[in-house]
Amino acid sequence: MFFLIKWTKAKAFVAAAVVICCVVGMLAAGQTTQAVSGKMYEGLYPDMYVNTGDGFEREEGKVAYYTFDDGPSQNTIAILDTLKEKGVKATFFVTGQEASGVDSDAILKRIVEEGHSIGMHTYSHEYSDIYRSVENYLADFHKIREKIMKATGIEPKIFRFPGGSVKNSFASPAVQKAIRIEMRRRGYIYYDWNLVSGDDKSYMTDVDTLIHNILNGAKGKDKIVILCHDDTMRVSTAKAVGPVIDQLAAQGYRFEKLTESVQPVQFGNDDET
Ligand SMILES: [Zn+2]
Repeated sequence: MFFLIKWTKAKAFVAAAVVICCVVGMLAAGQTTQAVSGKMYEGLYPDMYVNTGDGFEREEGKVAYYTFDDGPSQNTIAILDTLKEKGVKATFFVTGQEASGVDSDAILKRIVEEGHSIGMHTYSHEYSDIYRSVENYLADFHKIREKIMKATGIEPKIFRFPGGSVKNSFASPAVQKAIRIEMRRRGYIYYDWNLVSGDDKSYMTDVDTLIHNILNGAKGKDKIVILCHDDTMRVSTAKAVGPVIDQLAAQGYRFEKLTESVQPVQFGNDDET
């Protein structure tokens, strides 16, 4: 009898613990659902939503999307000069940096006036800050969006994550996933890449190596989204633009800019639909 009472009490204790765990689990699940549905962030930046339509344009033939991250800088000017000379449109994912010797707002304006695409790449580019939380990411995103809108008068609709949408050591996968979901909820589309120029390996990467990397990376691909950087130190990136355009054009590629109508190259995360 005594054993039975003890057993029953133990059983009741276990049952209670199970109930408590379930309730806690349900609450946690509720929080997750709430985060996923975006309710936690609805009060933040109520104007920061964008209508990017509900479909992408059909792409045919061989197409190259030349993209430049981290500007504006002195090199952006050189890149813009070459693009103008070649009659090619490209895409610039810009930051809030104020590189010495350049008027960054004037460069942002020139990018738009010359018909290129402009997208957000964060204001600070500080991984340890922007990837700490959804709130931090949104605050930074809002800042670069405002800067672009003020300088150019247009509302940017596309963006690129620093480091791409892949896992990085500054963020938990859960935070990165929550950021992606929140940005998608707001209508924004992010664009990764499928061809690296290699100009991020070293400031001293020579022009021929960059050209070789890009031509080599294009092999077998009809659609290429080329990752380059145009911060002040990367002079080779700007010098490679002319030869790359000539040689890819000779291979039958046409150059287009990324817009919200272009189906994005994305690295494939489990939250994508
Ligand atoms: Zn970057």
